[in-house]
Amino acid sequence: MFKRILIANRGEIALRIIRACRDMGIETVVVYSEADRGSAYLELADEAYCIGPAKGADSYLRFDRVISAAEVGNAQAIHPGYGFLAENAHFAEVCRSCQIEFIGPPHEAMAMLGDKNRARVLAKEAGVPIVPGSDGAIENETQALRVAKEIGYPVLIKAAAGGGGKGMRVAVNEGVLKTAIQQAQQEAQAAFGNGAVYLEKYIDHPRHVEVQAVADQFGNVVHLWERDCTTQRRHQKLIEESPAPNLPEEVRRAICGSAVRILKAAHYTNAGTVEFLVDRHFNFYFIEVNARIQVEHPVTEMVTGIDLIQTQIRVAAGEPLPFRQEDIEHRGCAIECRINAEDPANKFRPSAGRIDRMFVPGGPGVRFDSHAYPGYVVSPHYDSMIGKLIVHRPTRAEAIACMKRALSELRIEGIKTTVPFHLEILSHPVFTEARGDTTFVERTWTG
Ligand code: ADP
Repeated sequence: MFKRILIANRGEIALRIIRACRDMGIETVVVYSEADRGSAYLELADEAYCIGPAKGADSYLRFDRVISAAEVGNAQAIHPGYGFLAENAHFAEVCRSCQIEFIGPPHEAMAMLGDKNRARVLAKEAGVPIVPGSDGAIENETQALRVAKEIGYPVLIKAAAGGGGKGMRVAVNEGVLKTAIQQAQQEAQAAFGNGAVYLEKYIDHPRHVEVQAVADQFGNVVHLWERDCTTQRRHQKLIEESPAPNLPEEVRRAICGSAVRILKAAHYTNAGTVEFLVDRHFNFYFIEVNARIQVEHPVTEMVTGIDLIQTQIRVAAGEPLPFRQEDIEHRGCAIECRINAEDPANKFRPSAGRIDRMFVPGGPGVRFDSHAYPGYVVSPHYDSMIGKLIVHRPTRAEAIACMKRALSELRIEGIKTTVPFHLEILSHPVFTEARGDTTFVERTWTG
């Protein structure tokens, strides 16, 4: 097992990884930018190194600085968390060539799955349904028009290297598609350094269901059941839960089995999530693999009792998975609300600044993963998520009640947060009766 791990991330996920390491008796080295200097979680690490200015490109994304910190700090492995370098196959390769283990999949698997077109081909070969669309990147307008005609409008233009819900556009007819293709290519080039785009049929009012899986270096691939992340705003997840409500058991098992087949075909190791869309007739379609730990991983931890970060560390250190598929339990219902520093009354404008007062909820079944505290200053430089509130109760109705109670206890003063918005969603019959789709929030509240 590793003696020391460097955490190449910040905020709540850095703290989450520090905690997992401390539980395992592993020392931690954490890196931080000038904007994160003074964050309380840094004190929980054994060592902390400043690696540059606030801008991610000058600090958290700098290979050279992160690797130097790992070398100076004597770390044997790097945990990338999510975002920043987590899905950078080149970084994973550089780490390993510097004799530092990267806690994630092999760089070859990551590179293949990171290209959504290649991932679609792989899924198809593994016998998993994919959303009808173009075979590979769109080369020109004529081809785009032909493919769109075949699959039928509306179509979705997606960036091959896209992520975080960015770089997607809906085209409802030929006219829109013509102008949108070029714009999408330019945007993708600017945002991801790769202008390749492809077309997918726009699935009408889908649900988002994803499967958490883990794989070791001995070919064992196990799924840890599904999460429903249908409650989204602008393709960004707001609330995640497990199990997926109102999903027939045979569909659930088919989706979980498909996820395992894809990861086996990719020679995947470590934790990964396979995402699917489910239409109203319970047809499911693969959309992508996230080759990293995800924000919503605690939902799965609560229902299975398995610590995913510890599992990632163990398999990266060469240990076999400590459980088999048939050992994985699924108990009760877990729900997570992402607490963002945004003003729901003002078009979700980011709300940076100092948290003056804060009260954290507790009680049975409540977990709050956050690096924030009274006096913490939310930086405008990073993602607006300041914490995740997770509950675990025997039934969905009890979990919703518990989440509402916990949200009403959670006080964060000095900045605006999404807490009141979550309370509204949780009280809405479409949510309580699990009748929602990925467009529910926008249709109901934000337009
Ligand atoms: P990203 O990598 O940017 O997160 P995904 O492919 O995971 O992109 O899609 C994110 C969200 O976008 C999905 O959860 C869903 O809400 C929506 N979406 C993606 N593909 C489709 C599609 N073909 N039809 C309808 N909605 C889609």
